[in-house]
Amino acid sequence: MCEPVGHGHSHGHGGAATAGARHRTPLLIAFALTAAYMLVELVVGLATGSLALLSDAAHMGTDLLGLGMALAAIILAQASAHPQRTFGTYRLEVLAALANGVLLFGVAGYVLFEAWQRLTSPPEVPGLPMLMVAVVGLIVNLISFRLLMAGAKESLNVKGAYLEVFSDMLGSVGVIVAAIIIFTTGWRYADPLIGAGIGLFILPRTWRLTAQALRILMEVAPAGLDVDEVQDRILRLPGVAGVHDLHIWTVTSGLETASGHVVLAEDADLHAVLDRVTTLLAEEYHVTHATIQCEPASHEDHVNPI
Ligand SMILES: [Zn+2]
Ligand SMILES: [Zn+2]
Ligand SMILES: [Zn+2]
Repeated sequence: MCEPVGHGHSHGHGGAATAGARHRTPLLIAFALTAAYMLVELVVGLATGSLALLSDAAHMGTDLLGLGMALAAIILAQASAHPQRTFGTYRLEVLAALANGVLLFGVAGYVLFEAWQRLTSPPEVPGLPMLMVAVVGLIVNLISFRLLMAGAKESLNVKGAYLEVFSDMLGSVGVIVAAIIIFTTGWRYADPLIGAGIGLFILPRTWRLTAQALRILMEVAPAGLDVDEVQDRILRLPGVAGVHDLHIWTVTSGLETASGHVVLAEDADLHAVLDRVTTLLAEEYHVTHATIQCEPASHEDHVNPI
């Protein structure tokens, strides 16, 4: 793009922290807590044969992977200076979210299958150890939940981890309910039924997280941003005679990008038009990195593939 000399904007995309980067410490603490608790749940789950505990442990395991991938992606995205990777490794965050979603689909499928198998003859499960483990789990989840709440609004990865911790919290409540039913009435079906319930509960939020990652990878415009409206707003700016080749996409959560061609009106001031367009994009639509090609009306594009 041709910028007038003295057009003083700063190109700050290289060192800009993505939304995920600011929430590394809470993620780290949640990771350690979840790891410790998953081991306890797994050991007690295996010792008692409780499907509710095992499915909750499996879900905790995917949480752990999710938190781990979120952490790795954020750390890698920060240390990614390389002349060939002009976008750094920001997209790793998105790939991590997608892998996490696929993994959760697998876990939910396994738990549902196992519950189906057990419903014909539910094994006897001791209620008291289930209850104790689940109560500890609820406390661990409450702590992680609080830690991740702030970051969930900004980063897709933190949001993914947060949603999982939230569903784990409900999972712990489910295990507590199953344990109390078994403890007081001895009704064996409570365990596989609650186990299946935890499996089912994971599915809708897993779908949303996966869909959001796919949107970014398919370069769909950010949710809630109407590209036609943006085009129209640019067209109505003073000095603009036309807009074409407008693309708006997300590099990673919190990093929105646009490129487009703006045809200058007769006698329009290039510098003023450029500033109006970039200001509109940044302030109204949070598109902070825009590449705008300003063209004189007589200019003809070589190619116009997309
Ligand atoms: Zn510039
Ligand atoms: Zn730039
Ligand atoms: Zn053009």
